Amino acid sequence: MIAAMAVVTVVFLPVLIPMAVVLTAVGKRRIRKAARSFACVVCGSRLGGVAVKLADDAVAGQARQWRRDHPYARYRMVRTLHAICPACGTRYAYDETDRTFLREEEFIARFRSPSQ
Ligand SMILES: [Zn+2]
Repeated sequence: MIAAMAVVTVVFLPVLIPMAVVLTAVGKRRIRKAARSFACVVCGSRLGGVAVKLADDAVAGQARQWRRDHPYARYRMVRTLHAICPACGTRYAYDETDRTFLREEEFIARFRSPSQ
């Protein structure tokens, strides 16, 4: 079963990779668009494309650090940072369901069980 899935994955890789690239591009455009109309809940200034760029740079930096610290780790992390307010530095995650931004800590709290 696993071997069959591996074969299917390899066969469809030429399709899956461009599909992933397109989906990523669509997602990024959606996030930038949402950022242009979203006002920071802390300071009230518009996030804009700059906020998304700040988050992209921060995430890329964290990923570099992660690979340096854990060169043999093979699992992926869920991205919880999609925008940083350029005025006050509040960190936001993009909520795909509601197509809006949530403060990063609220977004992370959703994934924790109530008992924790
Ligand atoms: Zn702000």
